[in-house]
Amino acid sequence: MNYHVNVGMMEARWWHGENGEVRCDLCPHRCILPDGDTGRCGARRNVDGEMISLTYGKVCVRNVDPIEKKPIFHYRPGSRVLSLGTFGCNLRCLNCQNAALVNTRVEDAQCTPMSPREVVEAALKQGVQGIAWTFNEPTVWAELIIDTANIAREHGLFTMVNTNGYILSPASEELFRSVQVANIDIKGFTDDFYREQCGGSLQEVLDACEEARRQGTHVELTCLLIPGLNDSPPEVERLVRWIVERMGEDTPLFLYRFRPFHRSAHIPEQSMERMEEAYGIAIKAGLRYVYFGGTVGESHQDTLCPSCGHMVVRRRSLQVADKVCFKDGEVSRFCPTFADINVDLDGDICPRCGGRVAIVPRDAPL
Ligand code: SF4
Repeated sequence: MNYHVNVGMMEARWWHGENGEVRCDLCPHRCILPDGDTGRCGARRNVDGEMISLTYGKVCVRNVDPIEKKPIFHYRPGSRVLSLGTFGCNLRCLNCQNAALVNTRVEDAQCTPMSPREVVEAALKQGVQGIAWTFNEPTVWAELIIDTANIAREHGLFTMVNTNGYILSPASEELFRSVQVANIDIKGFTDDFYREQCGGSLQEVLDACEEARRQGTHVELTCLLIPGLNDSPPEVERLVRWIVERMGEDTPLFLYRFRPFHRSAHIPEQSMERMEEAYGIAIKAGLRYVYFGGTVGESHQDTLCPSCGHMVVRRRSLQVADKVCFKDGEVSRFCPTFADINVDLDGDICPRCGGRVAIVPRDAPL
């Protein structure tokens, strides 16, 4: 990558020139930008005929979290991660929890400059086991994630992304090949939902999920259930059947509870009855590991051995006491944190029946 001294920014990957303008090939919007224009994500700009990453090395938010908070339940349970976020996003979800971060313009962003090596050094200093790219959409600084992941792995650190999956190949191939773990949001299971609620489209997200699986990334999926918009039993059934058929019955699924926020503040909180109904549909469709997200307590937090029902990982989610703040706004408001995780597994084997549980243990090689 080229460093532009005059603008203090890095040249982006995944773009090409087109009729004197630049076309971004990173996400399905495929923005075409005249000189000086910035993409819909707010993170990439045409500067003198070259696509520039406005976010490379610009860390706006950081925190140390349990991996369960991301949420990831089946990869090295009990690990801690250094979570990092920048500004910008390529979707515009009406219920966005991190709008303060997402909508910040580069000119207003309060960031700490960090190179890939400095990110790794910060993670090692914190004594964490991995680095999580989260808060805003990781796709918009995919170059930094890939560069950092390669160094992190050399130092025994894994890398995870918490992504909306709105990313095109070949960028998706390169990103998922570089990271070990991904939690991908499937925000609804109709194109109408994506268009009206998020400013995107469904099929490309499903393609990205399958790309991650092909690249060998450990994938867990999240679906936020919004009353009346994406939580009808037939839609949930279509979603979970797709997961079973295309991602596999061992793919962990988080059913996330909606809370009113941002431009969806007029929609009521999701009912626990509807959450339980969706859980039942997912289990009946054949998914083996289904959890609740965005809830506090013990309900559907533990992992049971699919062969004998023995509790192999016990978890308890807690109300978050310390919010992660960016300027005057809180980010990730409804993500509970976790009490100590209790693991009763011999590697990935159930100690009671000897059956395999689809969990990557803490001591597995990277
Ligand atoms: S990553 Fe940003 S600039 Fe590129 S196509 Fe998507 S929204 Fe447009």
